[in-house]
Amino acid sequence: MPLQMIKFPRRFCSVIGRYSSIAVRSFATTTGSINFSLNEVQREFKELARNFSREVIAPNAAHHDKTGEYPTEIIKKAWELGLVNTHIPQEYGGVGLGVLDGSLVTEEIAWGCTGIQTAIEANGLAEAPLIVAGNKEQNKKYLGRMTEEPLMAAYCVTEPGAGSDVAGLSTRAEKKGDKWVINGQKMWITNGGKANWYFVLARTDPNAKPGSAFTGFIVDADTPGITIGRKEINMGQRASDTRGISFENVVVPEENLLGVVGKGFKIAMSAFDITRPLIAAAAVGLARRALEEATKYSLERRTMGKPIFEHQSIAFILADMAIGIESARNTVWKAGWMHDQGEKNSFYASIAKALASDVAVNSANMAVQVFGGNGFNTEYPVEKLYRDSKIFQIYEGTSQIQRLIISRHLADNISDI
Ligand SMILES: Cc1cc2nc3c(=O)[nH]c(=O)nc-3n(C[C@H](O)[C@H](O)[C@H](O)COP(=O)(O)OP(=O)(O)OC[C@H]3O[C@@H](n4cnc5c(N)ncnc54)[C@H](O)[C@@H]3O)c2cc1C
Repeated sequence: MPLQMIKFPRRFCSVIGRYSSIAVRSFATTTGSINFSLNEVQREFKELARNFSREVIAPNAAHHDKTGEYPTEIIKKAWELGLVNTHIPQEYGGVGLGVLDGSLVTEEIAWGCTGIQTAIEANGLAEAPLIVAGNKEQNKKYLGRMTEEPLMAAYCVTEPGAGSDVAGLSTRAEKKGDKWVINGQKMWITNGGKANWYFVLARTDPNAKPGSAFTGFIVDADTPGITIGRKEINMGQRASDTRGISFENVVVPEENLLGVVGKGFKIAMSAFDITRPLIAAAAVGLARRALEEATKYSLERRTMGKPIFEHQSIAFILADMAIGIESARNTVWKAGWMHDQGEKNSFYASIAKALASDVAVNSANMAVQVFGGNGFNTEYPVEKLYRDSKIFQIYEGTSQIQRLIISRHLADNISDI
């Protein structure tokens, strides 16, 4: 479009006049590149995940929630369809989806059950540090094996005494000859009892600042000295396997050190640039399910002579849920798109994670409200959504930590917001 053809509303003219060359040119160059329509491959992937979620995940979700049984068979089927480990690069046998494309799949899987989605997504979290910093041999061996068999992996950072405060980790790794020896305890590890290997963050310099105190390691789960705790009984997402893991004189070869000694903190945090938009996509999937269930119910349930949908206070609850979902999905897509363009997206990933988590909790809460007494009962699907939603505000950085990241970014970048 020729620059002079762009017509701005009169009220903007004085501003445009002052900044005409910058404002008009940047507008002109970006109008062509902003695009919300999905391409054919994206639509196909989304459709595949949607059908799988409706036909396989959703019908089995209540069973895995009630029993806490790990969804091994479902994950195996999802793996066969290419819906697990979606961001492993093609050179290591994966489908190599970007974060935006992956978010389309995750939203659909989460619609069916976020417990099962979390089990699947935890693989992505463990793999992300390798994608960020793994060398060819490590990636061929550890990412490669994930594409050859339906294996699980886990990301071991949190400890009983340090969650938000990652810099407070006390697990130690000491160099002994040409090996490393790890001692310490990890807590709340998703896939802890199912993983074939772990990404482990350990302190390698007791005196250094966080930026040079920690190192990441890839640890085979069958290494002597590893003890896996009991499966934790959580409020929601009960299909997922969460455990404590202790490391006692666990010997790790030098070739399993990830990146450079002392740079593990950055690697562990960079992984979130990939995974937070995906966790946010899952929260959107849950919120969408809550809206769908609540809308259907409100059209059927009648009070005072009409469906409750026709009471404005119920209709507006549904409208607010839709507003939240649409807004949150847009932040997910933007954070994913930025990462896929090679741009630093931490600020946007935190916005997506914080917003989508709140939208999920609020939507599930409101769905219970729309269902009335039935919403409080396990015969209906929304009480599970409510229980499942809460963890989005806690794992992969709590909502307070996301706000900390967002606000710290503001201090240095206010003119770019
Ligand atoms: C089901 C589940 C699965 C998980 N999976 C994994 C996993 O696979 N791998 C892994 O490594 N970890 C995992 N975690 C751990 C999770 O990431 C942590 O629980 C989370 O980061 C919070 O840490 P914490 O529990 O120690 O809470 P704390 O850090 O003790 O926080 C307690 C409260 O204080 C607030 N707070 C803390 N510090 C600040 C601050 N500076 N400013 C403002 N508020 C603050 C927090 O927001 C929170 O509300 C999982 C947790 C759960 C429950």
